[in-house]
Amino acid sequence: MVSRGTTQQSSAPFNRRIVLDVIRRQGRISRREIVELVSLSPQTVANITNDLEAIGLIVARRIKGARVRGQPPIAFELNPNAGHSIGISLEPGRVKAGLVNLVGEILERRELDVDTHDQRRALASMVALIGELRRRAGKSGRLWGVGVALPGPLIKTDISFVGPTVLEGWSDVSVLDELRDATRLQVFYSVDSAAAALGETLFGVARTLDSFFYMHFGLGLGGTLVVNRAAHRGANGNATEIGHIPAVPGGKACYCGNVGCLERYLSLQSLAEALEVSELPDRDARIVAALERNADARLQSWCAQAADRLRDAVCVIENILDPLTIVIGGSAPKLLVERLVAGAQPLHHSVRGGVAAPTSRILLSERQEDSSIVGAAVLPIYDLLSPRFEVLQQDRRAEPDVAGLLGQRGAARAGRL
Ligand SMILES: [Zn+2]
Repeated sequence: MVSRGTTQQSSAPFNRRIVLDVIRRQGRISRREIVELVSLSPQTVANITNDLEAIGLIVARRIKGARVRGQPPIAFELNPNAGHSIGISLEPGRVKAGLVNLVGEILERRELDVDTHDQRRALASMVALIGELRRRAGKSGRLWGVGVALPGPLIKTDISFVGPTVLEGWSDVSVLDELRDATRLQVFYSVDSAAAALGETLFGVARTLDSFFYMHFGLGLGGTLVVNRAAHRGANGNATEIGHIPAVPGGKACYCGNVGCLERYLSLQSLAEALEVSELPDRDARIVAALERNADARLQSWCAQAADRLRDAVCVIENILDPLTIVIGGSAPKLLVERLVAGAQPLHHSVRGGVAAPTSRILLSERQEDSSIVGAAVLPIYDLLSPRFEVLQQDRRAEPDVAGLLGQRGAARAGRL
């Protein structure tokens, strides 16, 4: 669904986001088509596209072969080089970072093993990676800010910062204030599943979907419900932590204090334990090697069991939430996720069965291992590119907006938009 503009005077920033949003979603679109889709006057749309072009957020291109009379019509696109954002994915034992452009492409990627039990070391690693990526971005490019995605829950609860799949030993994320001070950049953060889900809505398989469920398959297992392109947070910002849903009565002990949690069967940590490769530094490489060989009986037995848990989880999620689809991303190797999804077929009967095509009930992220990096990088630019104001309210530390870039020109024009 395309959002529509409004003619209220205070709506200039909102209308700009609406127009940017429609350009991003369509990829390439003419001014006349924008007018039709967003219900703003041609003059208002012209003012907005002129402003957005003047500050370099969009570029105009002549449409080849569409000449009717005189000049060929012009189409607008997001300008990929309108600035960069740095996305950091922080998982136990590892920091990954990427320099991402305004259309969600990772231009440069870095990865470091680090003892994340020690917040100072984690901070130093993040600062070092940001420094390298900034140099790569160069002095000329605009840097929207830094986004950090971390395994949740981040708000203090019974199950926060407990166990090997989260940042064990941390008590809060105030270290990110120091990251902002050390880099003098705007720093945003979010639970990894929420960040990655928003990344999928802007640049991924969910870019045409307003609502869906996102399952984050990393070292642990998380989830985010996206409703009207906003992450559903719940009462305390901790909604849909599906990893700790009881899945197997009397099952494996979980670090949260319960038994049989879903994450104990469906996560990279669970697989690493089964293969006895839990320790860094080469945990992930050994998992990938085992997957490619596919000769390990422990691997095959784990996959069969994990696929059963996935089938059950899909049924629970569908019956509770009736999502249009379930998108699976995270840091797990694509090969593994594909194998589990194939093993979970046929899916259980549910409220989606017979409604959605079997192949559309689960979609795989196109970025799989890098969903968290792109998701994190989206945090500083999500407000810019989406008309949803309240999306990141709970997590954000600062607010970028086109109005600031427009400066006096924008202020003078605001009443007319
Ligand atoms: Zn648990």
